[in-house]
Amino acid sequence: MSSLREGGAAKPAGRVALVGAGPGDPELLTLKALRLLRAADVVLHDDLVTAGVLAFANPAARVIAVGKRGGCPSTPQAFIEQLMIREARAGALVVRLKGGDPFVFGRGGEEMAALRAADIDVEIVNGITAGIAAAAAIGVPLTHRAHTHGVAFVTGHAAEGAGDEPDWDALAKSGLTLVIYMGITHAEALRARLLAAGVAPGMPVAVIAHATRPEQDAVVATLDDFVAAMHAGGVARSPAIIVVGEVAALGVAACAPLATAAAVRRSR
Ligand code: SAH
Repeated sequence: MSSLREGGAAKPAGRVALVGAGPGDPELLTLKALRLLRAADVVLHDDLVTAGVLAFANPAARVIAVGKRGGCPSTPQAFIEQLMIREARAGALVVRLKGGDPFVFGRGGEEMAALRAADIDVEIVNGITAGIAAAAAIGVPLTHRAHTHGVAFVTGHAAEGAGDEPDWDALAKSGLTLVIYMGITHAEALRARLLAAGVAPGMPVAVIAHATRPEQDAVVATLDDFVAAMHAGGVARSPAIIVVGEVAALGVAACAPLATAAAVRRSR
């Protein structure tokens, strides 16, 4: 861990909590997140955090949007880290509020490292990650003894050959349910990649956009036709989760086969 600051001074009184805000529905916040939000002096939040969650922030807190739209576009990460360090050194309780879970595709690891390097006390508070919430919101069990032995959370954002891709061939062979984050704008490339990796064209695929929010929309289709289905169903909106695997057929199938958004909404 980091050493004491020059002169052996005690740690500053301020601290940072990296807090998961969950997928959007404020009722999915943890009690710990709620307590910290109410006590916060400063709240730094991403675009994914909903107004319903922010409504729980201490009314006296400074609430600052630091997402892609709200922050400094050139060096957002360094900007956010410096802001947290500065505020904590000034004695503030800083709540860094992130969509879903701070440690799942949330850069929480990077921020924790920067805070530790600056000798700032940092606490991690889980949130319900979007992949789990989205599946549950349409009744898809991510594991099921009859269908799969596990689940993999992967990013779809590098699907167009940007490098650093998941090993789709290995994933296809694994038989795991695939929960794909950041894949919606690369859906066609993902489809082609998974077919090339040997996943059956008839493999069920669910796409859930804006999960747990009033504007939630979902579609259940097959690997072969899910891109067309999500465009036809108005589901091709970010943020969205793509679930690939036999279990994808289960949830909304209970409401209606090849369920549409209407069926999903009805179940909420
Ligand atoms: N830390 C977050 C993930 C951030 S990456 C978490 O644990 O959930 C951003 C991606 O998360 C989006 O591209 C989308 O794939 C997914 N996502 C976040 N909120 C979502 C929501 N309410 N519904 C569907 N997908 C969501």
